[in-house]
Amino acid sequence: MKYNANEKGYYGQFGGAFIPEMLYPNVEELRQNYLKIMAKPDFKNEFDQLLKDYVGRPTPLYFAERLSAKYNTKVYLKREDLCHTGAHKVNNTIGQILMAKHLGKNRIIAETGAGQHGVATATVCALMGIECVVYMGEIDIARQAPNVARMKMLGAEVRPALSGSRTLKDATNEAIRDWINNPVDTHYIIGSVVGPHPYPDMVARFQSVISDEIKWQLKEKEGRENPDYVIACVGGGSNAAGAYYHFLDETDVNIIAVEAAGKGIHSGESAATSALGKVGIIHGSKTLLMQTPDGQITEPYSISAGLDYPGVGPMHAHLFDSRRAEFISVTDDDAMTFGLELSQLEGIIPAIETSHAFAVLDQKKFKEDDIVVINLSGRGDKDLNTYIDYFKL
Ligand SMILES: *Cc1c(COP(=O)(O)O)cnc(C)c1O
Repeated sequence: MKYNANEKGYYGQFGGAFIPEMLYPNVEELRQNYLKIMAKPDFKNEFDQLLKDYVGRPTPLYFAERLSAKYNTKVYLKREDLCHTGAHKVNNTIGQILMAKHLGKNRIIAETGAGQHGVATATVCALMGIECVVYMGEIDIARQAPNVARMKMLGAEVRPALSGSRTLKDATNEAIRDWINNPVDTHYIIGSVVGPHPYPDMVARFQSVISDEIKWQLKEKEGRENPDYVIACVGGGSNAAGAYYHFLDETDVNIIAVEAAGKGIHSGESAATSALGKVGIIHGSKTLLMQTPDGQITEPYSISAGLDYPGVGPMHAHLFDSRRAEFISVTDDDAMTFGLELSQLEGIIPAIETSHAFAVLDQKKFKEDDIVVINLSGRGDKDLNTYIDYFKL
């Protein structure tokens, strides 16, 4: 398991748990218990049952005929857009709400930027009848009104973060402060493969159902489990981690990670962490992150709110550093173009995050008999206004 976390939570030189001492008991309780709980038959049964009946898994692995013809290769789409709530994020929140129950917690906190993780968290809290507080920057609350309304409708309390730049990192600080003050009854649901150990490993395991399904679905359709390429967009990296997970040690599978180049890698407005990032610590984990020479985190930019993150999870930092994965960055304009193309070739309107992954079909040349799996992380309904403004629809 060269590319997975070791027992201390390190992926090569990345990962670990760099946290204030006040937070240590909370993180340590989770670290000592997460693998034991995930291995319990009643945990596994309930997780599998909810993924099936509530989330709607397995999601299809769809052969995209017209897209394949255009790029003269075999393109399969893993349809995470068909999950309940419209993206892969719910795979993780289902796992963590069950984890919280097994740990005896009766209150959930989360932080959210674009609001998607907040909605996925509020959803599972409603499902379980558990109190839910979501921290969100005051600026993000104004920018993401529909998701704020969804969270409220689902019964969550949305608490504005009023300090600093009033965006994601300030919401994260508020959530951590809350957790320090409520160590006994509260579980903190983190939304991607980021944060201190054991979060990146735990979230990757919950999302690994994606590649688990790809394997048997591809075996059924093509007679082999391994594709030649697996492609996913990377914000924090959770949909990508899930799509890569069971292929990490299979060296015949090429892994491609797609980051947001925004208005261009060197435009000063991007989120291309592998190209611009340096080793640093963010959200309690050592990883690659965009920062000034004196170590201040740089404000990231992407047209897609879900890729607008200044770092990547430690698994991805290691996949980049070890060259196991190829990293490609895609601009706003290219993402929008390929989102429109997928809509018109296959009748699937993707989330703008996901659209970035499709630009790779043009940037790289694949062979006619290559099997290329693209993780279709989410649907585009939430992005309709951005598409409308961009294309003047
Ligand atoms: C949140 C989100 C992402 C980015 O998050 P990851 O943790 O990198 O997967 C990508 N696609 C969609 C549809 C999302 O909602």
